[in-house]
Amino acid sequence: MKRIWQPLLAAALSISMAACSSASTASSASTAASAGGTVKDGTYTASKQGMNDQVEVSVEFASGAIKSVEVTKESETPGVGGPLKDSDGSVIENGGLSPIEAIPQRIVEEQSVNVDSVTGATITSATIISAVKDCIEQAGGNTDDWQSEHTHEAQKDISADVVVLGGGGAGLAAAVSAAEQGATVAVIEKNGEVGGDTLVCGAIYNTPDEALQAEVTMTDAVKAKIEEALAEDPISDEHASLQAEVQKQWNEYKAAGRTDLFDSKEWYALQTWINGDKVANLDLVKVLCYNAYDGLQWIEGLGMKFSDKIGQGAGSLWQRTHTSTMQMGTGFISTYLKNIADMSDKITILTESTAESLVQDADGKVTGAVCKDVHGNEFTASAAKGVILTTGGFAANAKMVQEYNTSGKWQDLSKTMTTNRTSCSQGDGITMALAAGASLTDMEQIQLLYLGNTRDGQLTKYPPRVVNGTDQVIFINKNGERFVREDGRRDEICLAVLQQPDGVFYFLESGDGEGYKDITDPEWRSADGFTFQYLLDNGYVLQADTLAEMAEKIGCDAETLQKTVDTFNASVDSGDDEYGRQLFSTKLEDGPWVATARQACVHHTMGGVTIDTSTRVLDESGNPIQGLYAAGEVTGGIHGGNRLGGNAVVDTVVFGKLAGETVTADAK
Ligand SMILES: Cc1cc2nc3c(=O)[nH]c(=O)nc-3n(C[C@H](O)[C@H](O)[C@H](O)COP(=O)(O)OP(=O)(O)OC[C@H]3O[C@@H](n4cnc5c(N)ncnc54)[C@H](O)[C@@H]3O)c2cc1C
Repeated sequence: MKRIWQPLLAAALSISMAACSSASTASSASTAASAGGTVKDGTYTASKQGMNDQVEVSVEFASGAIKSVEVTKESETPGVGGPLKDSDGSVIENGGLSPIEAIPQRIVEEQSVNVDSVTGATITSATIISAVKDCIEQAGGNTDDWQSEHTHEAQKDISADVVVLGGGGAGLAAAVSAAEQGATVAVIEKNGEVGGDTLVCGAIYNTPDEALQAEVTMTDAVKAKIEEALAEDPISDEHASLQAEVQKQWNEYKAAGRTDLFDSKEWYALQTWINGDKVANLDLVKVLCYNAYDGLQWIEGLGMKFSDKIGQGAGSLWQRTHTSTMQMGTGFISTYLKNIADMSDKITILTESTAESLVQDADGKVTGAVCKDVHGNEFTASAAKGVILTTGGFAANAKMVQEYNTSGKWQDLSKTMTTNRTSCSQGDGITMALAAGASLTDMEQIQLLYLGNTRDGQLTKYPPRVVNGTDQVIFINKNGERFVREDGRRDEICLAVLQQPDGVFYFLESGDGEGYKDITDPEWRSADGFTFQYLLDNGYVLQADTLAEMAEKIGCDAETLQKTVDTFNASVDSGDDEYGRQLFSTKLEDGPWVATARQACVHHTMGGVTIDTSTRVLDESGNPIQGLYAAGEVTGGIHGGNRLGGNAVVDTVVFGKLAGETVTADAK
């Protein structure tokens, strides 16, 4: 296995060795001077606010040198600020280093607090550096004396059969898939750790799954959704033929007198395409939906584990959502990395390396990429077989979002927060592909999601029922009133949320139902790892024993809130809801009540580079650009005007795997 984190090279090492050796020959007196100045030997601790919570650092000084730096307490995001861990708690290191590991290592080796931050995790990096500075001061030192700079060797040019630009979900799927076909692969990732937005995703994955859906009973309201889709006038021959196929399956289902949930890959495709406003390329939608189950089996075969319960993720519109058993998207990334560790003769990952442009030969064939290492040194990654673009979307690039926000669906989005990681979704791949002659599709199709927390827009500090418990929550505004169906399309919910007072609403949950977990249990954790007490103490959730008490905490009229809940409970009995909701499982009756404020944030960019059904990037004339492939959120044409919740991760698995197969097949 090739090491992927290479910040400390010969020069830095020799300097740090010198610092250590001079320290070891220093007197054993408790105060000594070294390259870093004078400090009093001993162990000191400091605690500073990190990205999520306090980060506690312990520094040991011996013979005037920094002997060790250890992060003793932290709750930073796994795989971003904190280390990525496997389900057994072991740290997975071959996808890069988190600041929790890298910054202490850099400080000790360089005997300096003037070390590079880990790209993509600058807040946690700065927090640790600041805590170490605090410890230096506690030890009587002067932080100005610990500022030495180090020279780092430049990254050399590299070459492989396949170069993958971007180490998120689609990139790692493509890398594993290409290596499975026998290719050597170099993954170029700009952050300190791989994972991208896939790492922090809710890990909901849609696919029909007969075995799990056999447990779900189909209600009349849900049946009506199919009838409605089949009654539509087709807008093309492809639409008509897909409708006819689903009609046949639906007739067979009814004739068999079945009561379990109807589903098929064709119905999944039809529903995905219709609810993307028939904007997407239906051929690409079919590739997505027809291969989703194979994709699930492929990644399960690689070791990934999903819950054995099927749900309906937020905005997924059908009970075909599978959920990872691990925190956020860490299950996907750790699964890929464990397989990559076993393929170390084939796959190399370079982190803190940014692709800047594509290299093309005289015929326009893409043969590699010009990249920059973390210190700004340019190097070339050459690809014998092809380059796969997997750099993600552009939801975190406010300027680009605003530039392409022309569909008329949304008003000014320039000040709207994003759920995406700012270090990832900047649209780099789209810019590079455009410069290489690629065409773009559906760039104006931008998705907002109503699950952003009200402080920074991130999908963190999750409420108890998170994104997969739509059947057990209602959404209320600051007046204590419902305003939208909770099981509807993401865009419709977001448009409704934007009309509410302050553009904010609450997820309201009760203590009822199968999905209720005892939030007071100290073992309970939100999907991103926080205790309920933390969420409560820090104002992310409100808790009350009675509805009247909850009304007081929200600041709304108690009678109004009671009436809202009573009316909803009556709908659970009748199946007839004033907002057209069709998914009911639980009446909201008993405390503890939990309310979580959320807002609509820029979440997904459905547009991107144009691809064919085998992931080849197409130019303006619809011809493949030789040597260039793309998968994941960097592409357009798959999700249309409204991406269904739980379909984007499928996109990364299905199209990532396909890209790895196509690039190797094309080269034969
Ligand atoms: C908070 C959140 C929750 C979500 N939850 C779900 C969910 O539960 N289910 C679902 O289906 N979808 C979900 N989505 C959407 C889905 O996660 C994303 O669409 C998908 O993960 C994107 O995968 P990707 O591989 O295309 O991009 P990413 O996973 O973002 O990977 C792109 C990688 O490329 C790197 N990169 C970018 N530019 C460069 C460059 N110039 N050089 C080198 N590297 C570069 C980035 O740093 C990043 O690591 C969620 C999204 C977010 C933000």
